[in-house]
Amino acid sequence: MSLSYPARLSLAQIPTPLQYLKITSEQLGGPRLWLKRDDLTGSLLSGNKIRKLEFVLGEALAQGCDTLITCGGVQSNHCRATALVGAQLGLKVCLILREDSNDAADGNLLLSQLSGADIHIYSPREYRTRQAQLFVEHQNHYESQGRKVFCIPTGASDGIGVWGYLAACEELQKDFQTHSIEPEWILCATGSGGTQAGLTLGAHHFNLGAKVLGVAVCDSEDYFHNKVRQDLRDWSDRYASDFDLTKIKSYVNANYIGPGYAKADAEIFKTIATVAANEGVIFDPVYTGKAFHGLLEEIKKGTFNGCKDLVFIHTGGVFGLFPQRHHFQQS
Ligand SMILES: *Cc1c(COP(=O)(O)O)cnc(C)c1O
Repeated sequence: MSLSYPARLSLAQIPTPLQYLKITSEQLGGPRLWLKRDDLTGSLLSGNKIRKLEFVLGEALAQGCDTLITCGGVQSNHCRATALVGAQLGLKVCLILREDSNDAADGNLLLSQLSGADIHIYSPREYRTRQAQLFVEHQNHYESQGRKVFCIPTGASDGIGVWGYLAACEELQKDFQTHSIEPEWILCATGSGGTQAGLTLGAHHFNLGAKVLGVAVCDSEDYFHNKVRQDLRDWSDRYASDFDLTKIKSYVNANYIGPGYAKADAEIFKTIATVAANEGVIFDPVYTGKAFHGLLEEIKKGTFNGCKDLVFIHTGGVFGLFPQRHHFQQS
């Protein structure tokens, strides 16, 4: 099947490098580890969300919308990227955020505030039980001002957002050729499922020969199998109704969630500090640090014995580190 890409804005600094993690790989003595540096997709628009937003914003502008509404945790990377890209494009942005024990003007929230977005913070209970109504209430408010609203789901994970990592797989195909590698697995942190969905579809479509493993940072294995399927069904309904989704298989590891979403054990902070010192790469405690720690543990357990090369997608998230600074021990 040949793909024809839908409307897309050029917002991300791509292609990003594929970096060999020499010290970490040699210390483990297992497969070679490669890092796809999607933390370098921009300074402020950094991370995985901007790849999805290229297509989501393409659609929003094609529909003539001038206002974006989206939602997430108070330290959401997705909300920060949406707020800043909205400012860049001259769009009004409204953020529906879930209150957290630590919602000082720090990290992503500080950047979202500086972007001039309208920010509304709700208790976890109201956020969970009234999310759909909150979108409708805010949409009605902006429409009463004559604005045209485009609603973006959590993490920009839906059929439109799938394009972000489907397109990234075209980049990975070139990376693998450049470095003459045929990785057995591509791993990513999975939170709202859209990155995993795009990678899974893209690895299949571009014949990367690698399976895609989502390392969950919340919810459960079943949740992500279903979410990936749901996003891919939405994608095929919108763009490729004859696409046979039964050929697509998802893989999830939900053993490294720890105490819960955005809550990490001491060992995660230790891994973050070790990788920073060894490789000059910074992971975050909410997504990439947890997932990369999971990868290291699975390598030690022998899960990837016999594999030559593994690719981990660095999906960004550095600003989420600052509000959790107190977890790093001074030494
Ligand atoms: C959102 C996010 C993820 C998870 O991506 P999803 O597509 O939501 O599953 C991973 N890492 C970082 C840094 C993120 O901000």
